Amino acid sequence: MIVGVPREVKPDEYRVAMLPVGVEELTLRGHRVLMERGAGDGSGLTDDDYASVGAELVDSPQEVFSGADLVVKVKEPMPQEWPLIRPGQALFTYFHFAASRELTEAMMRSRATCVAYETLSDDQGRLPLLTPMSEVAGRMSVQEGAKYLERPQMGRGILLGGVPGVAPAHIVILGGGVVGANAARIAAGFQANVALLDINMDRLRYLDDIMPPNVDVLFSDRHTIRRQLQRADLVVGAVLIPGAKAPRLVEREDLAQMQPGAVIIDVAIDQGGCMATSRPTSHAEPTYIVDDVVHYCVTNMPGAVGRTSTFALCNVTLPWVLELAGRGVEQAARSLKPVARAVNIFNGEITNRAVADTFGLEF
Ligand code: NAD
Repeated sequence: MIVGVPREVKPDEYRVAMLPVGVEELTLRGHRVLMERGAGDGSGLTDDDYASVGAELVDSPQEVFSGADLVVKVKEPMPQEWPLIRPGQALFTYFHFAASRELTEAMMRSRATCVAYETLSDDQGRLPLLTPMSEVAGRMSVQEGAKYLERPQMGRGILLGGVPGVAPAHIVILGGGVVGANAARIAAGFQANVALLDINMDRLRYLDDIMPPNVDVLFSDRHTIRRQLQRADLVVGAVLIPGAKAPRLVEREDLAQMQPGAVIIDVAIDQGGCMATSRPTSHAEPTYIVDDVVHYCVTNMPGAVGRTSTFALCNVTLPWVLELAGRGVEQAARSLKPVARAVNIFNGEITNRAVADTFGLEF
């Protein structure tokens, strides 16, 4: 099979969908890999790194799309890529169809087969191609919080770990899933005082077992959240209700109870955010201030640490790229349930009920 990897064209996107090791694994199995020149630049991977293990470098996205049977990407196809997609061609990438009717209809019109990272789920319902990005965003949330707590960034001027004789920061993490647990570990490593809140008792018991002593694991209810907000230097929003908008846990009037210069990092912003005052921001202008509280609501946090995110993503996608290339997409979907669940559109027909229901389209 011919596998194509274009350069990502979405603004602020520095990841690439394949590492040199992926090219090597594919070519060793007799496949060809068309790589657009410069595709790895944003992640510090050079054309030579790819060419030396067998990639065929091409100069334009047109050449990738016209030559490849399977196109592997990171972000959903952008409008300038839509006309390049051929009927019967397979695409393996994040699509997040429910967020865009236009994209869904464009992919149906293209009569392509769309295999979506975000719905590839195992038999336990886990989403292995989303997890690494939550790990990145969770760890990064504390790093960003530390930065915006600095006075020149409009924060309170607090050092996360304090120093001998001066108390460390108080960090409140709403949601103890993948993002929250990763944020808590990093926050604890900085020697901050951490409160980690969730509503799932089994999860709370597990977190209580594994978290270090400077993490308090608490049940998430209105009163506890409000009490925690009053003490917080940094708040991380990390809640998720699968398939739904994020629950709103912090109202505008709660901000008045917070300390001036406190920072909110609302990681859940890609599902609408869990603060009433959250609105999406970008890496170019990540923060804004409401009632003296700094808000950071970047929707694609992993994009900023492109190199780490590329490696984290490709580690988990490569086994599936090898299956798709080795068996062919149709056969892979017949034999492997996670792949079947990942196919959202097959030759232009919607095969994912949630996407069809979202737009009232035929399933
Ligand atoms: P997850 O499912 O692993 O964890 C979510 C947790 O929230 C669960 O443990 C759940 O019990 C808990 N929860 C639900 N309602 C709650 C409430 N009222 N109070 C406290 N906890 C509650 O999800 P995740 O992988 O950790 O992702 C969290 C969010 O981060 C998602 O919205 C995800 O899309 C988002 N995310 C954003 C970025 C970004 O760049 N902004 C990157 C990765 C993930």
